[in-house]
Amino acid sequence: MPSYRSLYVEASAAATTVGRSLIDQFADRPVVEINSYHEVFSRPSASFQAQKRAPSLIAAVASPPYLYEAPSRVCARPGARPDELPVMYNDQLRNCVYNCDYCFLQGMHPCGHTLVFVNSEDYHDAAADRAKSGPYWLSVSYLSDILAFEPVLPLVRGWLDFAREHPKVTVEVRTKGEAPPLLRSEPAENFVFTWTLSPRLVAARHERGCASPANRLTAIRAAIERGWRVRLAFDPVILVPGWKDAYGELIEETFTVVPAAAIEAATYGVFRVGLDHANRMIAARPDTPVLHHPFVSAHGMLTYNEHEIEAIHRTVGSSLTSYLGADRVAFVHA
Ligand code: SF4
Repeated sequence: MPSYRSLYVEASAAATTVGRSLIDQFADRPVVEINSYHEVFSRPSASFQAQKRAPSLIAAVASPPYLYEAPSRVCARPGARPDELPVMYNDQLRNCVYNCDYCFLQGMHPCGHTLVFVNSEDYHDAAADRAKSGPYWLSVSYLSDILAFEPVLPLVRGWLDFAREHPKVTVEVRTKGEAPPLLRSEPAENFVFTWTLSPRLVAARHERGCASPANRLTAIRAAIERGWRVRLAFDPVILVPGWKDAYGELIEETFTVVPAAAIEAATYGVFRVGLDHANRMIAARPDTPVLHHPFVSAHGMLTYNEHEIEAIHRTVGSSLTSYLGADRVAFVHA
């Protein structure tokens, strides 16, 4: 459960039902009314990590667009078949309850506080409008682990209800969390959970606040047993000392706990951050070795060199393929 120190709320958001419910939740903490979320979220002098250690919540009303075309890294769909759906994402929640050392958000956003846009209807209407042009895949968790925010606002519940009414839209929620209460709901055919998995030595040191790998596997198993569509993401693979053994053991443990036949697909990817964000996040994090690897610059990103990527294919890619077959495994590097 996220613990926010205070609430900044735009006057326009405070006037909404959702805004009022947030103000009620913060009855015992400071609530500060602001004209625009930029007053807090876009301050250039903010320290991302200082704010992550004592985060506030910012509630605002978003302006269009409420939907964006996604780069391929957004989504956990393997393969490049001609029948693939277009991929879109949205930004209703910015910044994350969790705090992974390698998170690109610390290079993207000047502020570590969580920003939530309360006008869910506008996001849903935009997603419904887009469906008039044909089926597509919608990632609602690109800029946050939205499922971890559910105790504050049930945004994922809203997207599940949306999915039931809009069969042309396949909604994907990606998480590093434990089994959410939402799993007890009736599954929807066009609603997909993707769990991101990391070895213990990566999760314990570099994924602060996230569920342990064992608890993520328990959640995956629970989701499968309740009939949900489930995908896996081994992404990003992080090259810590001993990574080959660690990822091999993780994949073996995964398919000991989880029946491979029940996994729709899995992706794996490498650490990669757009150059525009990379320098800022590296400068801000002298404390974590995962951001101070001798990276190379390629295709507009900072990433591992080709020999390291080849080694990841030979270990993680090969191992996943041995359990799932090549048609259910894909490499993501864009
Ligand atoms: S779970 Fe994802 S969005 Fe959240 S901090 Fe970790 S990498 Fe960033």
